[in-house]
Amino acid sequence: MRRLIAGNWKMNGLISSQAEIEALKGLTGGATCDIVVCPPFTLIDRAVEAVKGSNLVIGAQDCHAQSSGAHTGEISAEMLADLGVRYVILGHSERRVLNGEDDEIVMGKALAAHRAGLISIVCVGETRHERDEARALEVVGEQLRGSVPEGATSRHLVIAYEPVWAIGTGLVPTSEQIEEVHAAIRQMLKERLGDDGHLVKILYGGSVKASNAAVIFGLRNVDGALVGGASLKASEFAGIISAAV
Ligand code: PGA
Repeated sequence: MRRLIAGNWKMNGLISSQAEIEALKGLTGGATCDIVVCPPFTLIDRAVEAVKGSNLVIGAQDCHAQSSGAHTGEISAEMLADLGVRYVILGHSERRVLNGEDDEIVMGKALAAHRAGLISIVCVGETRHERDEARALEVVGEQLRGSVPEGATSRHLVIAYEPVWAIGTGLVPTSEQIEEVHAAIRQMLKERLGDDGHLVKILYGGSVKASNAAVIFGLRNVDGALVGGASLKASEFAGIISAAV
């Protein structure tokens, strides 16, 4: 399966950060994987312009479940599609925890993204406490069943397994732990989507860097990565992309 590497800039980046996108274009011209950069909303318009004619596409970090209306401060999937956005990250653990987004909210957003023609990157992952209690598979299964809409297809859905304790901490699960969860996700996708479940990309996310990417990409059922901190520097992100052959 063609790999997908997505960079999540989170709440980072000013107009001057466009230089990182320009640099990335120069470093990834020959890449054989799909590459998505998800800057903050404020930079999306410029970023879409900047990647024209390159192999990079632009994603967003969230959207609202409604297409328009009285939702002060919100951005709809239609608005993102209108700008030329192709992907949207949904249910990131920071939004689940800091913004109180539960599975039902995430599913509503995934449906909205599908209606607007965007590809959802739905994030799931257990906390340290849940892993210590040997509940990682149960938690991920529950999030997946609750967040992925019936009728989703591989053309509109990507799953990112991001253990909360690995995000921004420098901690990475063992290869066995990653393979175990990814295999369970693959199985659940097959149960939910039938044969098409084989084709849904499953990304790993949490402290991915150029130095550990090749090992992670060598694991079974790992189809790419969702990268936070290491996506902010073009050279480091390009190192991850070049490991995704
Ligand atoms: P990190 O973040 O790569 O900085 O650990 C990953 C994410 O939050 O998607």
